[in-house]
Amino acid sequence: MDKRVVFNEAHCKSCELCVWVCPKQIIHLKEELNGLGYHPAFASDEDQEECISCAMCARMCPDAVIEVFR
Ligand code: SF4
Ligand code: SF4
Repeated sequence: MDKRVVFNEAHCKSCELCVWVCPKQIIHLKEELNGLGYHPAFASDEDQEECISCAMCARMCPDAVIEVFR
């Protein structure tokens, strides 16, 4: 299955707004750091199967990190 949510991890600032807004609770922060020194948000391939493409995460992100596909 193609990904429904794609994160431009290099630009994430770990604010967690997407984590809290996702109705399916499939977004988490990675253990490792990105180039900015933040833990980037992601959704695993397995969790993405639960995504309903509501785009709440993309709308909430202040840094336009997230792209949602249907
Ligand atoms: S599109 Fe909706 S369900 Fe999918 S990850 Fe974003 S907030 Fe969660
Ligand atoms: S809302 Fe954007 S900047 Fe904040 S954690 Fe999510 S992807 Fe990163």
